[in-house]
Amino acid sequence: MFMHNKRLQYTVRVAEPNPRLATMMLEQFGGADGELAAAMRYFTQGLGEDDPGRKDLLLDIATEELSHLEVIGSIVAMLNKGVKASLAEGAMAEAELYREIGASGVSAKEALLFGGGPALIDSAGTPWTAAYVDSRSEPTADLRSNIAAESRAKIVYERLINITDDPGIKEALGFLMTREIAHQKSFEKALYAIEDNFPSGKLPGVAAYASAYVNASQGAGDMAGPWNSGEQWDLIDGADVAKPMDGGDGTATVGLGSDDRRVAEAMKARTMSDPSANPTTGADLGAGPGAGRTSEGDLGGAADIKDAVKMAREMPVPN
Ligand code: MN
Ligand code: MN
Repeated sequence: MFMHNKRLQYTVRVAEPNPRLATMMLEQFGGADGELAAAMRYFTQGLGEDDPGRKDLLLDIATEELSHLEVIGSIVAMLNKGVKASLAEGAMAEAELYREIGASGVSAKEALLFGGGPALIDSAGTPWTAAYVDSRSEPTADLRSNIAAESRAKIVYERLINITDDPGIKEALGFLMTREIAHQKSFEKALYAIEDNFPSGKLPGVAAYASAYVNASQGAGDMAGPWNSGEQWDLIDGADVAKPMDGGDGTATVGLGSDDRRVAEAMKARTMSDPSANPTTGADLGAGPGAGRTSEGDLGGAADIKDAVKMAREMPVPN
């Protein structure tokens, strides 16, 4: 069960309202790498987890992320306090309020729809979505995703810290940022506490492909590094890159039943193109200057785009 403690996990001291900053802080409230996404990611993983250690870890961190959501949401609420009251009370003349909200940087959506309260949107007003949670119920995949999610959250907090000079906010954000570092460490330990954690899942990879590096983008800029050369790697390079890796002919086929085959053949026959046809089309009939070669003759074109602009400007304008 969940219980609520009225104290925040970290004390929030905001020096003065700043709606523009509040909008930016929403990134960690209802954004892709924000606290709600983190809490829901670990909560749902924890519910489905059978390993007692990981279940405990995931539910501990999920619950802490809800406390973080409360901290960042309280920062947003404090930063928007003036705006919220002015909107709710209609305290100013219309024009004055319009000017005030406009200048505050708060989005129209935040102002009009959410009334300046902390909304589950990101800094651009995009509503929070469960699509931010990418769990697959395979701990070696999910823990790697969690590690990446914690490092992204750390970076976003770092950027938010860099854009505010409010010491109280800086301090609270510094706490939240540091907790993401601690979470990353826990998830890294949990991943490596699984003895065979790579590759993910149960099925082994096919040996012939597991250590092949394909130089699929060839030319100047090709570079050797531990990611593609040395004893771990077989380099596939040059013309070999264009060959199917299985040694087959690289075509795609499917076995069809007789009914499916008949319908497929009928469609192929109906939509067959005639390479010997040279039909006159709308492009030929309506062709004007710059159309190039058409069945109406060579209508030419500009030498380059600057010339094209010049030609267009010189065309007569009907009056
Ligand atoms: Mn957090
Ligand atoms: Mn975290």
